[in-house]
Amino acid sequence: MAATPKNSAPLEVWKFGGASLADVAAIERAVGLIARHHGPLVVVASALGGVTDLLLEGANAATSGRQSEAARAAATFLRRHRDVARGLIPAGPARRRLLATIDTAAREFRELCVAIGVLGHLAPRASDLLVSRGERMSAQIVTAALLRGKRRAAYVDATEIVVTDGQHGGAAPHISGTTRLARPRIKPLLDAGTVAVIPGFIGHAPDGSVTTLGRGGSDLTATLMARALGAVRVSLWKDVPGILTADPRLVSDARLIPQLHHREAAEVAHYGAKVLHPRALIPIAGTRITLHVRSFIHPEQPGTEVSAKRSLAMYPVKAIAIVRGQAIVTVAGKGMVGVHGIAARTFVAVDAERLSVSTIFQASSESSIGFTVPEGEAERAVTSLRAAFRDELSTGLIDNVTARPGMAVVAVVGDGMAGAPGIAARVFSALSTGGINVVAIAQGSSERNISFAVTSDQATEAARRVHSAFQLAKIGGGRAPAAPRTDVVLLGFGRVGRALADQIGGANGQGQVRVVGLLDRSGYIFDPKGLSRRRLTELSREKDAGELLTELGGRPAKAAEALAVMSSHAVSRPVVVDVTSEETGDLLRAALGNGFDVVLANKKPLAGSWDSYASLVSTPRHDNRQVKYEATVGAGLPIIDTYHKLVETGDRVLRIDGSVSGTLMYVVSAVSAGKPFSQAVREAVELGYAEPDPRDDLSGRDAARKALILARLMLYRGAAPVPDDLVPRALRKLPLDAFMARLTQVDAEWKTRVAREASKGRVLRYVVSATPRGVSARLTAVPVSSPIGALQGTRNLVAFTTRRYLKEPLVISGPGAGAEVTAAGILNDIHSLRGSQSS
Ligand code: ADP
Ligand code: ASP
Ligand code: MG
Repeated sequence: MAATPKNSAPLEVWKFGGASLADVAAIERAVGLIARHHGPLVVVASALGGVTDLLLEGANAATSGRQSEAARAAATFLRRHRDVARGLIPAGPARRRLLATIDTAAREFRELCVAIGVLGHLAPRASDLLVSRGERMSAQIVTAALLRGKRRAAYVDATEIVVTDGQHGGAAPHISGTTRLARPRIKPLLDAGTVAVIPGFIGHAPDGSVTTLGRGGSDLTATLMARALGAVRVSLWKDVPGILTADPRLVSDARLIPQLHHREAAEVAHYGAKVLHPRALIPIAGTRITLHVRSFIHPEQPGTEVSAKRSLAMYPVKAIAIVRGQAIVTVAGKGMVGVHGIAARTFVAVDAERLSVSTIFQASSESSIGFTVPEGEAERAVTSLRAAFRDELSTGLIDNVTARPGMAVVAVVGDGMAGAPGIAARVFSALSTGGINVVAIAQGSSERNISFAVTSDQATEAARRVHSAFQLAKIGGGRAPAAPRTDVVLLGFGRVGRALADQIGGANGQGQVRVVGLLDRSGYIFDPKGLSRRRLTELSREKDAGELLTELGGRPAKAAEALAVMSSHAVSRPVVVDVTSEETGDLLRAALGNGFDVVLANKKPLAGSWDSYASLVSTPRHDNRQVKYEATVGAGLPIIDTYHKLVETGDRVLRIDGSVSGTLMYVVSAVSAGKPFSQAVREAVELGYAEPDPRDDLSGRDAARKALILARLMLYRGAAPVPDDLVPRALRKLPLDAFMARLTQVDAEWKTRVAREASKGRVLRYVVSATPRGVSARLTAVPVSSPIGALQGTRNLVAFTTRRYLKEPLVISGPGAGAEVTAAGILNDIHSLRGSQSS
């Protein structure tokens, strides 16, 4: 015989699934692949396609007294194997031996069926013994076919080398025990250049009886052999191109996943994707052994590699698995809240029945615990739980233990989900737009999956929805999907809103951010496909002319309603941008509740009471929603951001001082440089720095709000400071025109004051200060040479005095007013939301 002992080559394990061994042609193909392979090889064989089902059906028929049906199954078993043997092996002693083995197996099967019929029940132990002949026959057929083709091959019965526990019907293998037996038995064969052919799926229990590893168990035999024998790779040859993004029978645009991490594949398997046995990854997790799921039809294709690598970072979600035929078992009762040990006892009771729980759901209220089990096991679970909680049920601590059959669990799996907020929201918005009713939700503690239960009839649609929401149909095509878009809804469409729309439409938006909606007092305009730049320009022109959105084709609605409508459409990563100067706190909280992130340039909602501030910015409450407000202080300057960076790196901020009002800075520095006060104010208005009524700035209220926002970073809980008001008392109530006209009255007074300070080497500045204990906003004189004294124009300056920057504060300075820079600050916040979500 032609040996091919390339023993320096690394060992591989190949498993052929039932479909790859369905008939003569398939087995010829498998044998051809094996024969062409050079290097040491272990082959694991499944039963011929459909044989395990056939054997189980026959045994079940026997159990319920339908002996003729059992006899027919035995006859089919015999005929299929005989046909294959005849088709593969030429007449002669080898064929005679094989046919004799097949006859014996069929006869024994028939006899066992008769015995089972007498007993009237099918014990798992007997069932295992019965079905084991499917794998044993196919492995012997493959061996004979290899030998016929002059390839050295030897059949090794798995019960000699695969050690398992005694859990018949779903045994778990022992890795070390198996290693001890398999090595001495297999290595010598490999060393001699012989292919070892092993039946998959079966092993032996401590008492020596035959066990099976559960349906699909040959996958596990293969990985177990790889681990025990120190293989470098395992190939599972299947009738699919590899592991796909979903079951192709359900989701027609399912695509091949080129590579998965061991852990991801383990989750896909655990959640019932039939392509891999649920525990197949256990023997090789954490090793360097790679697993390849490959197409038996296109062996030249690489299939899916399962390894320790990470790839496809663009896809936080990679696969969707569905397991049907589940029941949700629920233990419920108001009395459970805060009671220790209910969960633990629930699972002890379930475990005692050896039920396999696939997903655990706990209501956040703690008033119920739910989990799924296969429907057929629900009754047993309920009975055992009712017994375990007999006392609690009688005292009313627990209301009831119930089972709801007809459920499916859909699992959404991917490594990139960990730490990527917003995934759950995307999953559930995809489901809600599909009208799918989610009965329960569980996020795996690994954050590598989100699973949810739906009624079985909605499972396929749910999987399709999620599949398309994450663009999984593009995963194998080499072309990564564009990062998901961010859809912006503008609250207010004044100068800043327009500048922002402009920047989004221009290069700064990078095409990934779109404006989908505008809201004003009167109503809203919404287009889920995005408002074109032209439309936005038009709208802005008309708004300038004083029109309301409802007069420009918008729908009348209260803002909260409008947001609810928008969020119910398929908006992607929706963000509300508040560029009003109103009290919008309630509205923004509603937006967070509707799944929007919030970016503010509007200071008012952050400058009210501590409680309303905290309820807005304490993001955890809004499950993964974020609130950003960099543009509220210093326009586009990174002030809030710097604060957070300092704190994150372990520094402690002691105080923040600065000049944070562009308008006041402009006016006061112009006056200090010799301009009349009235003229400086007029210029600030004309240049667009000031609010339309400059008294809003001159009153210092705006600066005081900024100071408060800074102080609250340091957890100052008090109210805003009473600011120094630069508007003379007598002019505060006048109409704007009259105010402007009479402003010259105060020019002289300002001139004197400026001169007095100048003689002392000082200039006037409007300065805010914030500490954890207090906050102020004052007109004050500072040395000309100080950083604030040296500021000119509308520049802002903020100085952080911290533990690290104690003697010399950390200073941030730059343009701090104007619609352009404010819009830039907002756009920065929008991009930072995108960045934190796409990781
Ligand atoms: P084997 O022949 O090795 O036992 P299986 O028949 O057990 O293979 O597994 C392949 C089958 O799994 C496919 O025919 C397919 O219908 C189903 N399947 C379910 N989910 C997936 C998935 N995510 N990727 C590929 N196949 C899947
Ligand atoms: N033949 C067994 C089954 O059908 C094991 C396997 O195919 O992996 O479940
Ligand atoms: Mg299988």
